[in-house]
Amino acid sequence: MESVVVVGGGLAGVRAVEALRGKGFQGGLTLVSAERHRPYDRPPLSKAVLAGERDDTTVDADWDALGARLLLGERATALRPAPGGGGTVATTAGDLRFDGLVIATGAAPITLPGGGPQRVLRTVDDARALRARLAEGTRVVIVGAGWIGAEVATTAARKGCAVTVVEAADTPLANAVGPEVGALTAPWYAEAGVELRTGVKVAAIEADGLALADGGRIAADEVVVGVGVRPSLDWLEGSGVLVQGGIVTDAAFRATVGADDLRSDIVAVGDCAAWWSHRYGRRLLVEHWDTALNAPEVAAATLLGQEAAYDPVPYFWSEQFGRMVQYAGHHPAAERLVRRGDPAEAKWAVCWLSGDRLEAVLTVNRPRDLMQARRVIAAGTPVDPEAVADPDIPIKDA
Ligand code: FAD
Repeated sequence: MESVVVVGGGLAGVRAVEALRGKGFQGGLTLVSAERHRPYDRPPLSKAVLAGERDDTTVDADWDALGARLLLGERATALRPAPGGGGTVATTAGDLRFDGLVIATGAAPITLPGGGPQRVLRTVDDARALRARLAEGTRVVIVGAGWIGAEVATTAARKGCAVTVVEAADTPLANAVGPEVGALTAPWYAEAGVELRTGVKVAAIEADGLALADGGRIAADEVVVGVGVRPSLDWLEGSGVLVQGGIVTDAAFRATVGADDLRSDIVAVGDCAAWWSHRYGRRLLVEHWDTALNAPEVAAATLLGQEAAYDPVPYFWSEQFGRMVQYAGHHPAAERLVRRGDPAEAKWAVCWLSGDRLEAVLTVNRPRDLMQARRVIAAGTPVDPEAVADPDIPIKDA
């Protein structure tokens, strides 16, 4: 393999470059990214950057040592895979031929209908622009009580804004962790002085705020929309790359091109990839930092012809209303939920179980529980459900 093109300069893109060089790849390496900035970390954007405690989150990569060509502020517009391997990526900087391709174009926020101004939070420019608007008394209305909505509400409230969060579901985080666990986080909003309005559907964003589906209105100086993201894959239209929600890959991140041509020279990673998990027997599209950090190691190995598979216990965290919330596992198929500690207290956790197997855990200010549970989930060993419910007993195998 003589030349690799990486499309997308987020965490997954830079980690792919580092992994390829780390595994001894000495050929030409080009990274194309639509943003003008060098790859940077996104999690601090809704936390320290929004709070004004940090301004720069650039990933600490030694680009000279990596010997990669950076095409920043340039966009891939089309992919033409060659039938026998390799191909061409059309970009705003011209055509790039490749022997190997890493697709790491991530995801972009979903916006809502209506002609009024709405902000999203995905890029460092978004974060800096929103930060400048968070002043004492500003009426900030956030649509979506998901991870990003809760984090923005936290900072906006701390800055003295009058914050309202509007959520279509009956509880915060309903999509992510289910309504029962999501409901446990609802009191955090009122405690922080944030008005949480659940079961409210937004019809449109208008010049001075929100028009609601029931005919009501909410006035706002700033509207921030945090209702989820969609993989950035428009540029692949007509390429033959199979997309179902995200780019369909196997556990080695090989993309499918055409009817069923699994291509070892075209891999997809990060927020744009729906990869096959042997552990869960299904495809996962995990839009979280840990995957963007670690999956490129496997994708790089695949490109270089090495056997590799990605099969982690998914992990993510969120910092909201002064709490560290962490999650590990995959709970949709779990049979029941066990509380570990009192959710009215500062530190607690919930565990999802099937029989005596721990499927997933969500911890609030209990990082040790998270680490222990993640180990047990990964090992798949049985636990004692009664011990799991006791916050004074470490989470371990039965
Ligand atoms: P991205 O970071 O989206 O990078 C993709 C890059 O590709 C972008 O720069 C994009 O401009 C570029 N691109 C797109 N299309 C093209 C094209 N056609 N041509 C060229 N370039 C293109 N995760 C957690 O686990 N915990 C957290 O606390 C957390 N907080 C977050 C806070 C915020 C505000 C955001 C936005 C995300 C957060 N995440 C968090 C999620 C995590 O940051 C993402 O999962 C991770 O950034 C995904 O990395 P990626 O490289 O796959 O995609």
